[in-house]
Amino acid sequence: MQITVPLVIDIPDDAGIEQVESVVLDADRLAMCEAMRAVVAGMDAGPIVCPTCHGRTVQRDGTATRLVSTRFGRVSLVVRRVRCAACGQRCRPSAPLLAALGRANLTPGLRQTCVLAGSSWPFATAACVIADRCGAVVSAEHLRQVTRAAGHAAAGDGVSGCTRRRTTCGPRATSYARTRPGSRSVSDPAPPACLPVGRDGG
Ligand SMILES: [Zn+2]
Repeated sequence: MQITVPLVIDIPDDAGIEQVESVVLDADRLAMCEAMRAVVAGMDAGPIVCPTCHGRTVQRDGTATRLVSTRFGRVSLVVRRVRCAACGQRCRPSAPLLAALGRANLTPGLRQTCVLAGSSWPFATAACVIADRCGAVVSAEHLRQVTRAAGHAAAGDGVSGCTRRRTTCGPRATSYARTRPGSRSVSDPAPPACLPVGRDGG
């Protein structure tokens, strides 16, 4: 699949480098969001094979909107639904593309960025950093949940020695390191030497 998206940038005549950087970045993000929508639209428009019976005759069954938060911002995707004429099962042609999201709305890339930020700053600060650097709106509470889930996933995978500690304002961090399996969590006064990042399906 090859897609083309427009990139229109209006630069004021008296703009300085800082303003140009900001305008170009905003335009880039809009173009990337448009590219994401175009990819989904392209999949929905292509030949569709029923995943149940492999029939190739499908009927339109409406559309659904899916909000996805990415590393370049929040994208509202229009997802097509179809019904197989042979077996009657419904499916979404773009389902394989979106499978990594699971029931969540964060892409794996943004999720990892959230974990990195959530492990480095207070969650409220991390949310601001992500909004500024990625254009993605992720609440401090969502960041906390994502970071916590990654810590638990890493702990479940047997990763040890990676702890989190916060020294500034914001929600107090939870330490994920354990002295031994089944024992209580302990805090490590040193900054985290490594980051426990685990895939949790979203
Ligand atoms: Zn079918």
